[in-house]
Amino acid sequence: MPLYEYHCEACGADFEALVSFSKADSVSCELCGSEKVQRVNSTFAAARSDSGSSGFQGCLPSCSPGG
Ligand SMILES: [Zn+2]
Repeated sequence: MPLYEYHCEACGADFEALVSFSKADSVSCELCGSEKVQRVNSTFAAARSDSGSSGFQGCLPSCSPGG
């Protein structure tokens, strides 16, 4: 699960929470319990290094400059 950092606008506290993607937007402050929190950033625990992945597949035949 990703580790999110939240900032509570009610009490001004900063806290981190390990929540799933579906619950990332439904987090309450762990100090005052307010739901008026903003997600500061997302620090993924999983490694974000994907070596050997070729996402770009070049140009399709349909986009050739044939006119
Ligand atoms: Zn709070």
